[in-house]
Parts: sequence; C-alpha cells; structure tokens
Amino acid sequence: MKVRLAKTAGFCMGVRRAMEITLSEVNKGDGKLFTYGPLIHNRQVLDLLRSKGVDVKEDIEAHDKGRIVVRAHGITPTERKAIQRSDFKIIDATCPRVAKVQGLIKQYDTKGYTPVIFGDAHHPEVIGLMGYSQGQGIVISSAEDVTTLPEEKRFVVVSQTTQDVDTYKEVCSAIKARFPEAVIFDTICDETYRRQKEVRSLAAQVDSMVIVGGHKSGNTMRLYQIARSTGKPAFHIETEGELKDSWFSSAGTVGVTAGASTPNWMIKKVIERLRTMGKRKQSFASLLTKGYQFLVKTSIPDAVGAFSLTYAGLILYRGSSPLIYPLLTMLYVYGMHVLNRFLDKEASRYNDPGVALFYAQHKVFLIGTALSGLGGGIIISLYLGLPQFLLFLALTILGLVYSIPIIPWRLGYLGRYAKIKDLPGSKTMAEALAWGTISSLL
Ligand code: SF4
Repeated sequence: MKVRLAKTAGFCMGVRRAMEITLSEVNKGDGKLFTYGPLIHNRQVLDLLRSKGVDVKEDIEAHDKGRIVVRAHGITPTERKAIQRSDFKIIDATCPRVAKVQGLIKQYDTKGYTPVIFGDAHHPEVIGLMGYSQGQGIVISSAEDVTTLPEEKRFVVVSQTTQDVDTYKEVCSAIKARFPEAVIFDTICDETYRRQKEVRSLAAQVDSMVIVGGHKSGNTMRLYQIARSTGKPAFHIETEGELKDSWFSSAGTVGVTAGASTPNWMIKKVIERLRTMGKRKQSFASLLTKGYQFLVKTSIPDAVGAFSLTYAGLILYRGSSPLIYPLLTMLYVYGMHVLNRFLDKEASRYNDPGVALFYAQHKVFLIGTALSGLGGGIIISLYLGLPQFLLFLALTILGLVYSIPIIPWRLGYLGRYAKIKDLPGSKTMAEALAWGTISSLL
C-alpha cells in the first residue's frame, strides 16, 4: 500500500525543544533529573526517558533536590514558587509561544480584564495559563459556553495553543456578538494551524487516514476528529501494533499524520508496517524497489564500495590488483557495519526503526554472514602474512569496541563519552580511518 506522510507530522517546535533540553541534561550528572509531570503525552517517549534515569515528579516537597524540567506546557506562578522554595534547580523548557500567552493573561489581568481561555480545563497548558489570572480566569470549550459568561465583565480572550482553529473562530464570533469590547488574541500556534490544514488536504487525496499519537494526547485526538470530519475512514493509533489489515482491505493509498508529541521513530515504524498492508501491486518496479531497499539495509553497497575503492587504489598505485585485497576490504567493511548495527541496537531503534526492524527480522542471516565475512577475512589475512593478520585483527577489535561502552557512566563528564561513537564526529572519522587503513595498508 502506498503511504503519504504529512509534512507537519510529529514533534512541534516546543516539544522538540523540551526533549532536547531534557536529553542534554541527562548526561550532565548534576544530581537526579526529573520532569514536572510527564514531559509529553506519549508513553513510549516517557519509557525512553525513564530508561535514561529521568523520572516524573508530580508534587514538590520542601526537602526535594536535584534538577527539574518544566515541560513545554508551562506551569503556574504558584508552582514555580514552590519549586524555587525547594532545593530543585529549575530547567525551564516552557515553549516560548506558551510563555507569550501567559504574558498576555498577566498583562490584561493587571489592567482589570477577566481572562477567558478556550481549551480543555484539565490540560496542563490551560492549568498553567489559569495560574496567571489570579484565580479570575474562565475556561470555555465551545461557542455554546459563551452564553454562560457573566454580563458585567471586560474580557480578554485567548486559546490553548493546540485547539481546533475552526471551533475557536466560532467561539470568537460568539464572544464578539455578545461582548463587542472584548479583546481577542489568536493564540493558536502556527504549527497547530498548519497541521490541521494539512490533515484536511491530505485526507482529500488518499483512501484513508492514520493518525499516530498518544491516546491521551488532546492535539492528536483533534487531528483524528478533523480527519473523520472529512468523511474518509480515519484511525487513531499509538503504535504500529494497533494497525489492522481489515482497515485497509480496499485502500490503495493511506495518509499518515501525527500529533505534536509523537516522535519520528514511532511514525517511521507505522509507515514501515503500513507499506506491507492493504492492496499490493507486485509490479516489476515495486520488486526492483524492494530489492534495492534490501541491499541498502544490509550494508552490501558499503562493502561493494570498499571493494571498488581498494581495487581502484591498487590499479592506480601498482598498475594491477589481485582480487584478494579488495575482497579482504569488502569482508571487513561488511562484517563491521552489520555487527555494529547489532551492538548499537538502541540507536537504530530510535534513529532508524525501519532498519532496526529489518535487522531483527533477518538476525540469523545477517550475524551469520557478518561473522563468516570476518572469519574469511582472518583466514585471508593469515594467508597474506603475519603483519597483515595482526593488522586485520587489530582493526577488527577496534571496530567492535566502537559501539561498546568502555568508560563507566559514573565518571561524570568523561562518562558522557562512554563509547568511541559518543565522541562528536567520531563516526565519520572512524569510518574514513578504517576504510583508508584497510584498503591501503593491507
Ligand atoms: S504546539 Fe506550538 S505553542 Fe504548543 S508547545 Fe508546540 S510549538 Fe509550542
């Protein structure tokens, strides 16, 4: 089945920024790291953070200490003061666009306006915004709620940043009709606006829509409702495991989008799974594409590249090339690439879930061929002589420790570079060094 991914799918700027701030704090080692409430509404991301030692703190107590990340949704001034009274160091990841809405409420509140917030009263962002209204704010969730607003007030109107654009327009019209003096701000985030607009246009071009994101994520649920309102079959899933073949039995093309708290690696997993579902046309072109994708994922093109490089180098240098040398380089590069994928499964899982899935599915074949390749390389290098054998062995050991932790995490700053691959730019340097050494010295 063909899959079309929305350009706006996945983390918004505020969530991406909060994740980056949190992950950059992980390795600093300045005391235990917490997030104040779940960083985002996504179970898989929370599991990932927990695996890195980041815990969720819901209540602040006086004796608490360590570091605490304020999430993109922001917090109330009262909560901020409670954190400041404790021994926590605040790492503020409040989204700048949310902070702007907080500032508007504070500014108009001091001028005597009553803030009206369009949104979900239980959402952390709205709870945070309410905190800036000195308890005077009113939360509404529909145009009908405007009839419940008290007559005598002067209102300033804002929206939760991820609310539905069309419903907010209806709310604003109803408020203007009843309170012509009301000051209204369009605080729905541009990213939300573009994401919702794209769902409508994408749904018109596909047979069905899949919306990826947490079942408790409000902005994901709104995307799902918008997709459904277009009349196309729409499905809200959290992981690829929830997809059902029966949903796509007659679908040729499916559109995919995702909420602002859905990481790319989860979207990629869903896309990989969808590609194997629905109506399948086994054209020659699709078979070619599959074959090409198989080759790319196996690192065979890298190995062939190494073979060609050595061959060309020897022709240029010596005028001829016995095939045994390029073969040795090819076996080394293939074995190292494949084994390092397995040794660093965690990175592939998040950076390239499609490749991680491929490696899990073809584990026996890939490990078998990689070990055979390296074994063959050892035999060939022995045949070439002792120096070649020792060099091949040294490079193989170096290649294997590339993805293995060699410095304990507890060594603070140094622990940030537990593996050679953690050094900035090490991948490019290590690959160039290994290719250069193996293809020239042997
Ligand atoms: S949706 Fe917009 S305002 Fe809300 S956190 Fe994301 S970037 Fe910030």
